[in-house]
Amino acid sequence: MDLQGKLALVTGGSRGIGRAIALELADAGADIAINYSSNPQAAEEACELVRAKGRRAMAFKCNIANDPENHAMIATIRKEMGPILVLVNNAGITRDRTFAKMTHESWNEVLSVDLTGQAMVTHEVLPDMVNAGWGRVIFITSIVGEMGNFGQSNYAAAKGGLIALTRSLARETARKGITVNAVAPGFIETDMTSVVPDNVLEQVRQNTPVGRLGKPEEIAAAVRFLASPRAAFVTGEVLNVNGGMYMN
Ligand code: NAP
Repeated sequence: MDLQGKLALVTGGSRGIGRAIALELADAGADIAINYSSNPQAAEEACELVRAKGRRAMAFKCNIANDPENHAMIATIRKEMGPILVLVNNAGITRDRTFAKMTHESWNEVLSVDLTGQAMVTHEVLPDMVNAGWGRVIFITSIVGEMGNFGQSNYAAAKGGLIALTRSLARETARKGITVNAVAPGFIETDMTSVVPDNVLEQVRQNTPVGRLGKPEEIAAAVRFLASPRAAFVTGEVLNVNGGMYMN
């Protein structure tokens, strides 16, 4: 119960990897604020699962690409649940196209959620951690931000940007008791990858030493470690959880 009495915000916590992270942090004793953008039913289901573990949980609708919505969400969470000491920046989208065919709009859409949105939520939450003299910020980046990927230049740019942000922010906040790290998943079984054609997924399996896609719970376990007080000397790090598909 490393995180007993602490409040964690998981953006995009209603489904997929975010939901698994919410449940894992609840197992570690944290109360959970679950952010989502469009599907209240999934968010409420995730809250119910957290409550079944005996922790507090509330869902907060907000498009993290929208600054006023972010500001209002964080103010409401503080009022309803207290200061946020663990932030998992997980919400993300894809709009895949080769670079030649990519529109400015789909470039902006992905950058505004996957990079700027995550940065701006962090900007809103950081004062809580500074006041407490303790905090954990964890960005969910991607193997694609490290290797690049055909048809994902916008997503790769956003996820690569998160890695650079992680390292800069880690340097700025280290003396304040705050660690900033990233988890870089490989290909994980969620709604996001359910739209990837079967032949591409088969190629992924063949290129992954472990020989399969990952599970959301396997990302959540890495997040739990980085969020724990035991990870106090780990900052500015990118933890790869990818079945060996990319090693650096
Ligand atoms: P997912 O199943 O598509 O779930 C996405 C979550 O993000 C949902 O809870 C969704 O809420 C929320 N969301 C989307 N846009 C949002 C916005 N503008 N504001 C707030 N919330 C928003 O995705 P996933 O596969 O679990 O991925 C989670 C994270 O892991 C993403 O950052 C993704 O890039 C990263 N990742 C995934 C994989 C993979 O293979 N799956 C690999 C590497 C990295 P609603 O349902 O309400 O829209």
